Amino acid sequence: MPRIPEDKIDEVRASANIVHYIQQFVNLKKAGQNFKGLCPFHSEKTPSFVVSPEKQLFKCFGCGKGGNVFTFIKEYEKVPFIEAVQKAAEFAGIALPKDDGPSENTGYFQQLYAINETACSFFEQNLWNGQYKRYLQYFIDRNLSEETIKKFRLGFAPDSYEKLLPLLKSAGHDLEEAANLGLINRSEKSQGWFDKFRFRVIFPFHNTAGRIIGFGGRKLREEQQPKYLNSPESPIYKKGEILYGLHQAIQSVRENGFLYIVEGYFDLLRLVEAGINNVAAVSGTAFTENQARLIRRYTKNVYIAFDGDSAGRKASVRAAQIIEKEGLSAFIVRLPDDEDPDTFILNFSTAAFEEIRKKNLSPLEFQIDAFFQENKNPPLEEKESFIENVLNQLAELPNQVKTGLYLHQLSDRLQINESLLVDQLNRFKRFRLKNKTKEEATASPKIKTHSGMYKAEAGILGLLLNGKSEIRNTILGEIGIDSFTNPNFIRLFEYLIQEYEETGGLNPGRLLDRFSEDEEMVKTITELSIAEYGDEAKFAKDCVFQLKRFQLEKRNTELAQLIKQEAASDDAVLHYQRSLMETKKQLNELTKQHRSQAF
Ligand SMILES: [Zn+2]
Repeated sequence: MPRIPEDKIDEVRASANIVHYIQQFVNLKKAGQNFKGLCPFHSEKTPSFVVSPEKQLFKCFGCGKGGNVFTFIKEYEKVPFIEAVQKAAEFAGIALPKDDGPSENTGYFQQLYAINETACSFFEQNLWNGQYKRYLQYFIDRNLSEETIKKFRLGFAPDSYEKLLPLLKSAGHDLEEAANLGLINRSEKSQGWFDKFRFRVIFPFHNTAGRIIGFGGRKLREEQQPKYLNSPESPIYKKGEILYGLHQAIQSVRENGFLYIVEGYFDLLRLVEAGINNVAAVSGTAFTENQARLIRRYTKNVYIAFDGDSAGRKASVRAAQIIEKEGLSAFIVRLPDDEDPDTFILNFSTAAFEEIRKKNLSPLEFQIDAFFQENKNPPLEEKESFIENVLNQLAELPNQVKTGLYLHQLSDRLQINESLLVDQLNRFKRFRLKNKTKEEATASPKIKTHSGMYKAEAGILGLLLNGKSEIRNTILGEIGIDSFTNPNFIRLFEYLIQEYEETGGLNPGRLLDRFSEDEEMVKTITELSIAEYGDEAKFAKDCVFQLKRFQLEKRNTELAQLIKQEAASDDAVLHYQRSLMETKKQLNELTKQHRSQAF
């Protein structure tokens, strides 16, 4: 897969210090030999995210994410492996061999981006040259300038089954992959390919690096279905993990210190047209935790400017809850009932829109306003259930200061003694905590039932990855593939043996990169590599003993079962009984040996 030579990758991995790299994004504090901080991949109040300078690995003991510097970049910046290597090289100031241009096959992700780029240019060019130029008018009629249309690379897909297809063919793209990206389809009758986006205006989706990862196509004729045709999920596009227009907004978000989120493409384009560039659109899906985490990379302050109607109000509250749970601050831009940001700016003005934003309306104030708007003189029970609902939300907030502020607002607006609210909130918090610990206790994986076995297998592999070379050699002399039961461990051991036989050594850094597309394996390898084993020789001896003992005990159980099953045949029973005696003897010897001998 990589065109970068492997020794170059080794050099980058060794030079891009993982602690320094992660410190750009996470506040890390020294804790013993390691560094600790709040995990950037899940929300938490107490740090369980550990970075080891010695091993050049990170590991979160909360959500399980872990790996080397490349894994971190891959996960955090959502880029493919090769790009992660490039970013790390840039960080470490290492020059990599130059790219020979897009015509060369540069790996799977690049291939997909190239297909989308061909399609995007085609859609885009249709607006500016040739026979479809008149469809530019669709956007002009929406009061969008050419500058904005170009900035977002808006486009047009003609009313034809075979316009994009020949371009994909002549560019030499893999048509099966183009179909996986949702650009073309295969006809069931003729088995031929045909264009999927037809007679639609096109909104390309960029990832934060500016690559085209998918498209949304809006219908132009009433009878067309669906109204919006979106690209399917693919290796480069995951629904709910991107925000439309975020790529174009990043610079402005940094300058302004906050991001607007709106619902639709046209809301976003209207704001941009009005000179407000720090805006991204949710477009099509409900707002997700992944989107909140994506925003967290760029700012902590989010202004939600959804439609003013009741559906929009509900969606605003939901989005605000998700955003605040991730430790960010949400504010709501409350528009009149029948307006969305697009119509509001057109009907009123940009200044009026920013005026509303500057009110810094908290999600709680917004909810209180909405509550009184819907219930003019609320009866006591209504009030109580509203308070209960709000306090339940507050119990989930990670930020204590903000919780305090909200309690104050709630007490003030609903005329309820603040200390009563505090009592009630604490009760909710205790209840949540109890449930959470219960959940954690019952959700422990199967592994726990074989914990001894699991630990021994993990220990052996950990020592193979990390241990001194004489210990590795002894282990490899004692242990075979049949000693393992965990499927991930079996794969890993097979791989290690192969590499050991081929190269005479093991390179744990490379190992993570080999499995870089396999999240489970990356987790497993990191967990094994980051563990500390104290007296390695003694630990190795114990693990080898455990594995051998488990193996013999398993054989014992199997033989005992066979003896029962074959009770009718004296010969068979005799044979198995002999074997059983033999394994019991071996087991005794093993135990004796373990007590007396050093490893
Ligand atoms: Zn985590």
